[in-house]
Amino acid sequence: MPVDAPAKTIPIVPANATPEELSLYEIRRKIYPRAVHGWFAGWRWAFVWLTQLVFYGLPWITWSGRQSVLFDLGARKFYVFGLVFWPQDVIYLTVLLILSAFALFLFTAIAGRVWCGFACPQTVYTEIFLWVERRIEGDHVARIRLDAEPPSARKLAKKSSKHATWIAISLWTGITFVGYFTPIRDLLRAIPFALGPWETFWVLFYGFATYGNAGWMREQVCKYMCPYARFQSVMFDKDTMIIAYDAERGEPRGPRSRKADPRAKGLGDCVDCEICVQVCPTGIDIRNGLQYECIGCAACIDGCDQVMEKMGYPKGLIRYASENSLARHYGPKEMWRHVFRPRTLVYSAILVAITAAAAGALALRNPLKVDVLRDRGALARESAPGLIENVYRLQIMNTGEAPRTFTISAEGIPGLEVVGLEQPVAVGGAAARTVPIRLQAPADAAAPGAHRIEIEVEAVGDPEMERKERSTFILPRN
Ligand code: SF4
Ligand code: SF4
Repeated sequence: MPVDAPAKTIPIVPANATPEELSLYEIRRKIYPRAVHGWFAGWRWAFVWLTQLVFYGLPWITWSGRQSVLFDLGARKFYVFGLVFWPQDVIYLTVLLILSAFALFLFTAIAGRVWCGFACPQTVYTEIFLWVERRIEGDHVARIRLDAEPPSARKLAKKSSKHATWIAISLWTGITFVGYFTPIRDLLRAIPFALGPWETFWVLFYGFATYGNAGWMREQVCKYMCPYARFQSVMFDKDTMIIAYDAERGEPRGPRSRKADPRAKGLGDCVDCEICVQVCPTGIDIRNGLQYECIGCAACIDGCDQVMEKMGYPKGLIRYASENSLARHYGPKEMWRHVFRPRTLVYSAILVAITAAAAGALALRNPLKVDVLRDRGALARESAPGLIENVYRLQIMNTGEAPRTFTISAEGIPGLEVVGLEQPVAVGGAAARTVPIRLQAPADAAAPGAHRIEIEVEAVGDPEMERKERSTFILPRN
């Protein structure tokens, strides 16, 4: 290759990136949401109280002498008040997941991201952490100033008290979470020195996740980590109620005095005060239309309604509205009519049907479960002249709270009977017992080979509580 040959290079040219493409790589701008009061803020706090009273309170309620809700993974039993679920009851978990999915489809089709805005743990804990932040550092302007200040004893004191409070809440949240798997009173007694390695790991992990997500990550969890934000749009249609800015009414936007007539000035109702942007926890401007970052918290509705009230304009410049209702100017009656459209009616019908079926199945649930295993080691043997014996292992699970006694019998071959077992068999409340049983039948009771039989387990004094399990009895050839 000649020495002076031009080197081959790939030219670097500036990309014509759109603002959306550039925003994927921009550095995070810290958001300082302004406090807001109003109807929707009241609802958000109602959900904070409701969800947290349930979450923090349930493990402390005692039911039949034990923790009301306890997922005992070691014993493979889930206690939910009077119900005890075993691994065999996994169908109920499946039903619960299906119900949750349909409830999410239904509520999203009706009112967009109401779950995200009001009940999602990320929203709830961010609200709590923001409340702590405002109590210690002040509202958004005070917080912006504090962050811009050079280090000082005052700044250090405020920041450390905020983080100490956040860490305390996070640790208590971690302890409560683990308290659903290890009885919470035992857990507290074991802290800090007698705590097992798994409990320690999960308390710290869950606590760290709460601290990181609600204290530091906040809107980034919703924007970049939550998959729901990405696929919610497929559940929306033009009649889904979303948080919407009424551009027809608001534009052209612009400042004006309270006394000025906006129409005479050629203005719409938006005074361009940007309160809706300042209160937004994800820092977006809802006036730019529906954006995937919008979590549907309705803080901008409360913020804008206050402005409208001050200006003497009707409320609802930002409001819950569907695309169709804005374009076709629906009144409240017509909007409600579109809430009950075929899509939401089908979701509701499926939801009601599954709930009714699950409730019925739970109410009629037989608290007795029986598993029969044949003893593979000794299929059949002659126990006495003319008598054939087969051996089985019976697992009797009493999923009810009360201890029970059971009788065991078998049928399917003439003369078949249970031998050598002391009856009735006692099984404790919410307990399982494995019982080896021997079945005996005359050698000439039936033709040689495998015969289908039924082993019946019945609670003493409660004939409703009985199970018949199929198995086989082998009569060998002579
Ligand atoms: S635009 Fe912001 S404040 Fe308004 S609902 Fe969406 S996330 Fe909440
Ligand atoms: S709060 Fe209302 S009036 Fe103020 S900028 Fe937002 S939409 Fe306009």
